[in-house]
Amino acid sequence: MKSRHIAVVGAGPGGLSAAMLLASQGYKVSVFESRPAVGGRNSSLTLGDYRFDRGPTFLNMPYILEELFEDAGRSVHDYVRLKAIDPMYRLVFGETEFYAHRDRDTMVEQIERIFPGNGPGYDRFMREEGAKLKALSPILQNKHDSLLHYLHPRFLKALPKLTVHKSLYGCLASYFTDERLRLAFTFQAKYLGMSPWECPGAFTILSYIEHAYGIYHPIGGVSEISRAMARVVEEYGGEIHTNCAVKRVLVKAGRTTGIELADGEKVEADEVIVNADFAQAMNTLFEPGVLKKYTPRRLGKKSYSCSTFMMYLALDKVYEGAHHTILFADDYRRNVHEIAASKILSEDPSVYVQNPAVTDPTLAPAGCSGLYVLAPVPNNTSGIDWEAEKDGFRELLLSKLEKQAGFAGVSSHIVGEKMITPLDWERQHHVYEGATFNLAHNLSQMMYLRPHNRFEEADGCWLVGGGTHPGSGLPTIMESARITARGIAAKYTAAERFRRTAGTREVGR
Ligand SMILES: Cc1cc2nc3c(=O)[nH]c(=O)nc-3n(C[C@H](O)[C@H](O)[C@H](O)COP(=O)(O)OP(=O)(O)OC[C@H]3O[C@@H](n4cnc5c(N)ncnc54)[C@H](O)[C@@H]3O)c2cc1C
Repeated sequence: MKSRHIAVVGAGPGGLSAAMLLASQGYKVSVFESRPAVGGRNSSLTLGDYRFDRGPTFLNMPYILEELFEDAGRSVHDYVRLKAIDPMYRLVFGETEFYAHRDRDTMVEQIERIFPGNGPGYDRFMREEGAKLKALSPILQNKHDSLLHYLHPRFLKALPKLTVHKSLYGCLASYFTDERLRLAFTFQAKYLGMSPWECPGAFTILSYIEHAYGIYHPIGGVSEISRAMARVVEEYGGEIHTNCAVKRVLVKAGRTTGIELADGEKVEADEVIVNADFAQAMNTLFEPGVLKKYTPRRLGKKSYSCSTFMMYLALDKVYEGAHHTILFADDYRRNVHEIAASKILSEDPSVYVQNPAVTDPTLAPAGCSGLYVLAPVPNNTSGIDWEAEKDGFRELLLSKLEKQAGFAGVSSHIVGEKMITPLDWERQHHVYEGATFNLAHNLSQMMYLRPHNRFEEADGCWLVGGGTHPGSGLPTIMESARITARGIAAKYTAAERFRRTAGTREVGR
C-alpha cells in the first residue's frame, strides 16, 4: 500500500505540511515547486546580508504547528525556536497608542486608562469568544465536502456560534463602546484580506486566538517553518524538486493519473495534491474542458481577498520599539472601503510594520535591521497601473513611517530595498489577481461552498492551502493539509480493508 506515489504541486506551507504527513506514513512523496526555493508566500527574501519574511510574520496557534509535527513523528522544537512576542503588537490611532498584551490585568488596566468603562467588555470578550472557538474548532478541523456535514451534530452544535447574521465589526460592537477599541479587535479581518464590516461574525475568534494563545516569532523568521517542513519531508525519503514547474494535472476519464512538468516529462502518481494558488491553478493546470465547475468564467465571478503592497527595507541602524506595529488610517472605514469596494489607492492608507531586529538579531548585520512594510491595497481587478503608481506610493508610506509610526529619518538609513506590488504577486508568484489571501472568506465561499479538500472535479486530486477548507492563514492551511492527508490515508486503508475482505472470501469459497 505504502508504495503509492503522491505528487504535490507547490511547496508552500500547505503542500509541505501534507507532504510531511504522508511521507511520515510511508507514502512515496514528490513535491514540485516552480520557484528556486521552498515556502511560497511563506518563503524568505534576502538583500545582501539581510533576510526578510516574504509574507507571514505572525505565527498564531503554535499548538497546531506542534501537533502537525507530532503527527509526522517529530517535535517542531527540534527544528525551529519559537519566541513569544509580548506585547503582541502596537496599534497607532493618530495620537493614541495601544499595546495588545496577553496578560489580563495589564490589558484591563490599559483599556480602562485609555478607554474608560470598557474593561469589563474585555473579560466578557475572552469568556464568550473562548466558548465560540471551542464550538467552531471541530468545523475547522474536519472536511466539508458533503452537504450532509451540515446535519452532523458538531455542525448543529456550532451553528448558533457562527453568528451568520452579524459582521465581525457588528459582533465586536457588543463588547466595546470606543471605535478604536473595536478596531483593535477587528483589524484581524485583514489577515483574510477582508473588511471587518463584511467579514462574517464567526471570525471574532481571530483576535480571541491572539489574546488566548499569543503570537510567536520563529528565530530566523516565519519562513523557517517552511524550511523545517521540507527537512522532515526529505528525512522520510520524500523528494522536493525546486525550479520545477508543473504544466498540467493529467486527468483521464475523470481520474487523475499524474502530472506533466514544464519540460514535458510526465510523472505518474496515484494521487495529486494541488497547493498552487487555487484560481491560478484552475485556470492553468487542467486541459480545457476538464473542469465544469471552476471554469475561467465562473472563477471570474468569485470574490477574492485584497492584495498587499510590500516594501522590504535594509537599514544601517536599529529602531527600538515594538516588533509589530499597525498604523491605522485616520478614517479606517473609508480606507477599507477603498480597498474592497471602490478599489482605488487610498491617500491615507493603513500600514503594518514588522521590526524583527528587536527580537531576533539573526536577520541583519550587527547594529543594522530590516523593516518589513505592508499596506493592504485593492487586488488587480482594480486596474491600478502599479508601474506608474509604485514610486509615489512608496514615498507616501515612508512619510507615514517617519511622521506617524516613530521611524524618524528612516529614508536616510535605507541601504537596500525591494518592493512587491500586486502585479508582482500575480506575475512572479502566480497569485490570481494578486489576491494575496486567496478566495474571500464570505459565507458563500466557506465550508461546503469552498473548493473541497477532496477536489470535486477529478478523482484522485486533492487541494491544500488557503484556497480550500478551512481557509487562508498558517494554522488553517496546516489544518487543510491534515484533512487532505487523512482523506488520502483513509482512502487507501479502506481499499486495503476491502481487498483483504475480498481475499478472505476467495479463500472461503
Ligand atoms: C503578505 C502576506 C502576509 C501574510 N501574513 C500572514 C501571517 O502573518 N500569518 C499567517 O498565518 N498567514 C499570513 N499570510 C497568509 C498565508 O499564511 C500565506 O500566504 C501562506 O504562505 C499561503 O500558503 P499556501 O500553502 O496556501 O500557498 P503558497 O504559499 O502560495 O504556496 C503555493 C506554492 O505553489 C507554487 N506553485 C504555483 N504554481 C505552480 C506550478 N505550476 N508548479 C509548481 N509549483 C507551483 C508557488 O510557487 C508556491 O510556492 C500572509 C500572506 C501574505 C501574502
